[in-house]
Parts: sequence; structure tokens; C-alpha cells
Amino acid sequence: MSKKLVSVIIPAYNEEAVIVDMVNEVTDALKDIEEEIEVVCVNDGSTDKTLDILREMAAKDSRIRVIDLSRNFGHQIAVTAGVDHCKGDCAVIIDADLQDPPGLIPVMIEKWKENYHVVYAKRAKRKGESWFKLWSANIFYRLLKKITKFEIPVDTGDFRLIDRKVIDALKDMPERFRYIRGMVAWAGFNQVGVEYERQERKAGESKYPFKKSLALALDGIIGFSFFPLRIATWFGFAISGIAFLYALYILYKALFTDAVVQGWPSMMVVMLFLGGIILVMLGIIGEYLGRTNIEVKNRPSYFVKETIEKDRD
Ligand code: UDP
Ligand code: MG
Repeated sequence: MSKKLVSVIIPAYNEEAVIVDMVNEVTDALKDIEEEIEVVCVNDGSTDKTLDILREMAAKDSRIRVIDLSRNFGHQIAVTAGVDHCKGDCAVIIDADLQDPPGLIPVMIEKWKENYHVVYAKRAKRKGESWFKLWSANIFYRLLKKITKFEIPVDTGDFRLIDRKVIDALKDMPERFRYIRGMVAWAGFNQVGVEYERQERKAGESKYPFKKSLALALDGIIGFSFFPLRIATWFGFAISGIAFLYALYILYKALFTDAVVQGWPSMMVVMLFLGGIILVMLGIIGEYLGRTNIEVKNRPSYFVKETIEKDRD
């Protein structure tokens, strides 16, 4: 029987400072396993020397394959390209900056052999990240858990092992706004978590400033629930209810007391308040509509400029 193949998918965007260590640590961590490995590095339109470094490494080691994308498409799409191109019986998705320890991969593989299709790595601790990032991530993961109908494990990133069945499932999900950890959870199969301590980035800078994290959070929420749209319905009912009671009160005042009903200031407040809510809700509908528009265009999520690999001997 031929050996099984484990793919390791590494998305890299301007990671010249760490990519050599990263690939070496991965091959090192996996040198004793019985499966064969391939390391699929996806160069996500880096503007530094990442691609040159990867090219050199791939020339020396046939286990390393490089998928060079035509421009920067973003982390989730880079991972998608890796998933589409990997050949393994299972694949491990891992960040390039050594925040996720490659040493955990053999543990994941053991779980995989116990017939789990998804082994996600749960962050028991996160080092070297600002309190604001930790706090906002914390709130986001719990909110998402509350508003979705299926279980998206909290405090997990994309660091995970997925079986070929899940790889094929992901390939069957062509959506352009991709929140991969949600998609994997949505797909189902046998899932299990292993805990680890998230390390500091080894070198280089985070490519997820607050704005991008927020965009990813929106993709998660909008991609997996109608919760934001429902807020409009709730607001509508609540405000109508309050308005009805207020109308009764005014009617009473006009009919049974001598007081003159004064409307001007309260009218302004109500109008501005309602106007604000309506605009926010229009914006939310716009978010959904804009996404529908892009999905309907049916464009490919990315283009590959070049695939760099040495024939395996
Ligand atoms: N990344 C990518 N394309 C991008 C941004 C990031 O492929 O447009 C990769 C990056 O090289 C790294 C991973 O995604 O391997 C996670 O990024 P980063 O470590 O900057 O995010 P953080 O850990 O700070 O959330
Ligand atoms: Mg990182």
C-alpha cells in the first residue's frame, strides 16, 4: 500500500523575515511521521522577497510546492488557493509567522488517524497581542456563536487539519466572501479540538490591522446569519409598540386635560432617531445586497500566475 500524503498549506504575504524558518520548522516537525508530506506555500502577491526565497527552496526540495497568485487576494483566498491545489489525503492550514506551532501538527495527525475529519487548534492562550485585539476577538467569537445555528468553535483560527472529504467539501463551496473556519464548521463531519498556546509573531508585522479584522468579522456574521437583518424587524416592532402607547397618552391628554399638546421638540427627536435607524438598516441591507451582486457575477476567487514545483522522484 502506498503511503498517505499530508499537505501543509502556508499562505504568505510579505513574510521574507520568517518564511525560511517556517518551512524548515514544518519539515523538521514532520520528519518522523510515517506519511509523506508536501508543503504548499501560497504567495499572496508579496511585494518583498518572499517569492524568490520560496522559489529557491522549491528548487532544492521536491516536497515544497509554490502557488504564486496573480496579486494580493487576502488571507482567506490564499488559503482557498492552497486547499484547491493540495494533493494530500489531509491538509493542515497554518500561518506563515510561526504563531501557530508546527510541533502541534503530529498531534493533529494522530487525531486524524482516530477518524476525525477536522482537527482544529483551540487557542488556550494568546501571547504578544494587544488587549484590544484579544477583547474584540473574544466578543466577536461569542457573538457569532450566539447568532449561528451550527457550532463554530470559539477561539479558533484557521490553524487546523482537514481530511480529504472536507477539502472536497470546501471545493464545492464556491462563495467569494470566505470565512473558512465557519465554512469548515458548517460542513460538519467529525470534528475535534486540540489546545495550544498561540505564540508571538516571530518576525515581521501583522497583516491584520483592526480594519481587516473587522472585515473578516463582517464576512463571518453576514456569511452565516441573517441576524443583522432581523434587528430591523425587532426595532420596527419595538418602536411601533412605543409609538402606539405614546399615541394613547396624547389622546388622553388632548381629550381629558386642559394641557396643550406640544410636539415640536419631541417630533425632532423622534424623526432624527428613526431616520438614523433607517439609514443604518439600509446600510446593512446594502452589505447583503452588495455581496449578492458579487456572488452573482460568478468570477473566480483568484488567479494563479505560476506554479513552482520540482518533479518528485
Ligand atoms: N496573509 C496572506 N494575505 C494577506 C494577509 C495575510 O496570505 O493579505 C497571511 C500571512 O502571511 C500569514 C497569515 O495570513 O501567514 C496570517 O496573517 P497575520 O499573521 O498577519 O495575521 P495575525 O496573526 O496578526 O492575525
Ligand atoms: Mg500572525
